[in-house]
Amino acid sequence: MPTILRVAVPLPLPDPFDYLPPESVAAASIAVGARVRVPFGARELIGVVVGHGEVERSPRLRPILALFDPRPVFPEPLWQALLWAARYYVHPLGEALATALPAPVRERLDAPEGSHDQALRLRPDPAQRARLRAGSAPALLYDALVDGPQPWSRLRGLSPQSTSARRRLLQLGLVEPLALDAQARLATTAPPPLNAAQQQAVAALVASHGAFATTLLEGVTGSGKTEVYLALIEHALARGEQALVLVPEIGLTPQTLARFRERLAAPVLAWHSGLADGARARAFERARADTPMVVIGTRSAVFAPLPKLGLIVIDEEHDPSFKQHEGFRYHARDVAVVRAKHSGVAIVLGSATPALETLANVERGRFRHLRLDARAGHAQPPAVEVVDVRRERLQDGLGGKALDAIASALARGEQALVFRNRRGFAPVLHCIDCGWHGDCDRCERAFTLHRARARLVCHHCGRERPLPRQCPACQGEGLVAVGIGTERLEAALAQRFPTVPVLRLDRDSARSADQFERVLARAHAGEPCILVGTQMLAKGHDLHGVTVALIADADAGLHSTDPRASERLAQLIIQVAGRAGRGTRRGRVLIQTHHPEHALFRTLLGGGYPAFAREELSLREALALPPYSAQALLRAEARERAPIDQFLAEAAAAVSDDAVRVAGPLPAPHARRAGYERAQVLLEASQRSRLHAALERLLPVLHAHPLARRLRWSLDVDPIALD
Ligand SMILES: [Zn+2]
Ligand SMILES: [Zn+2]
Repeated sequence: MPTILRVAVPLPLPDPFDYLPPESVAAASIAVGARVRVPFGARELIGVVVGHGEVERSPRLRPILALFDPRPVFPEPLWQALLWAARYYVHPLGEALATALPAPVRERLDAPEGSHDQALRLRPDPAQRARLRAGSAPALLYDALVDGPQPWSRLRGLSPQSTSARRRLLQLGLVEPLALDAQARLATTAPPPLNAAQQQAVAALVASHGAFATTLLEGVTGSGKTEVYLALIEHALARGEQALVLVPEIGLTPQTLARFRERLAAPVLAWHSGLADGARARAFERARADTPMVVIGTRSAVFAPLPKLGLIVIDEEHDPSFKQHEGFRYHARDVAVVRAKHSGVAIVLGSATPALETLANVERGRFRHLRLDARAGHAQPPAVEVVDVRRERLQDGLGGKALDAIASALARGEQALVFRNRRGFAPVLHCIDCGWHGDCDRCERAFTLHRARARLVCHHCGRERPLPRQCPACQGEGLVAVGIGTERLEAALAQRFPTVPVLRLDRDSARSADQFERVLARAHAGEPCILVGTQMLAKGHDLHGVTVALIADADAGLHSTDPRASERLAQLIIQVAGRAGRGTRRGRVLIQTHHPEHALFRTLLGGGYPAFAREELSLREALALPPYSAQALLRAEARERAPIDQFLAEAAAAVSDDAVRVAGPLPAPHARRAGYERAQVLLEASQRSRLHAALERLLPVLHAHPLARRLRWSLDVDPIALD
């Protein structure tokens, strides 16, 4: 009986495909996990061998075209984690593997050695800077290096002339090249002394080295979690091991990288979805080496090979960006825990506001819990006040108390921060004469007014329209902007405080990491200023000069239909509060709301995040919501409603286990997006194993359904948003 190979191809198909080994190669000699090129219809694809099999006769099987590497492309523990993830998230293995091994890596993995990323750094003669014309490509490149060496892969994108600019700077002797490894080994600064709590945490974690254990490191903002991570990584490197650090999407700033590179005596590889194809393939290749190194990256870095992995750190483990929202819907934190288990290593989940799932795992005794309670250094916790704005006429979203607090901070030479989770000038453009308001016709949701660009923009599908001068319905002059976005706050504050800079940080004002850094650099300079922004501003940045932080509107989070809205709001309040008063001066936080009596404020301000979390967990338990139940969401969308309803109704009917509650089909909370009708079925069970058994039975029904190819559908296990 001929032995055949089962190959997973990067397509959304549930099962692997059978192939014969190449001529004169024994199938058994080809390892599971090896990359192969296979014919697929008229195409050729690069897939991964996932098993061997035997067949009676194989007249129609075709042979593999090429074998890339005799050894598996992933180390065994990662391979096991990937197999687990494909099963757990009920996703075709081929696509799951393709997420871990994206096309540029799949095809270019055998890129020649020696093409390593290089870095540039400035030579110590800043006077020479005067020889560069302001605004020119060389000047741009030079300025990007002022804060320290940068890898070429990041610099290259600065301008189309980056390559010639580099040549020019080298000719002028203004910069010098630096191999990335050398950079890491050269630039080590001594660690600051750890406080008692940090030392205890490090000692407890180092003591458990060599065995799988998940530890929640809960530390208030500013308590110095990063120093604990760095100390643990130093231990891992000293043992000759590798470390993997996952950070939220907006946490991987040049500032973060520089801090790790300065401190660690080993290469520190950046890993994120924005890497160019070549850089990504090189990072993957470098991370296959077994020498000490650190990979720091966003969600997808959980798939970095790292054969000598000795430690995993997830910073801000509660951050929603660890969950992938399309295709292979994995949660990087949860995959990382499984990977740590298969690797037999420690994993540390750090947060000031842990996810309720994580706290429930502590409660169940699955995760260990370490606390860092005090702020490092001399910083004191800020004073938090709920500001009742019910009887007040707000001026562009700002009340009297907030304006006074900002004014006095500025008068003392300090900085203020204003948070609003809404980009643009105003969420609605409305005609007071006839009632017209601008809606995106593909989503049936209001267009957001972007005044500086004179556009109406749909934040759901990206569609744009020019800003009308008159009402399109009645041709009147009665158009008014309703509601408050960051752009409006920026304009209002600039008008009110004309002598200080107002710096806005959101996805419109900071489109690239460099723009983002530039704004932060101005804030770091310490002069009085007002920072206005979205989520981007709320997280992790050390802003020593900020003493007043304002949450301009907390109300949306209080009355959402999403069961996770209050968790997010509590996390946000704690995080914004963490931005105020990190220096020596005590900070003040104001929260504007129309519901000052809301229980969330009472609990959170009275007992902090732990008290909030306890109450929210008992509520979830009473309602049998996650983490006290397991959920999966079956979503479907199509141009028309009828096929989605039929598909979902038949899917719901196919779930035959009484232990699995089925809700739907129901229209999605956002029932129309980008011209597609959207609906969903929610499956829920008290026991995760029952839910998974039901999903495994359901999956073939879905794939075989006659409508499955005529609409878009997806299964989301452990969804973190129900829309
Ligand atoms: Zn009108
Ligand atoms: Zn739209």
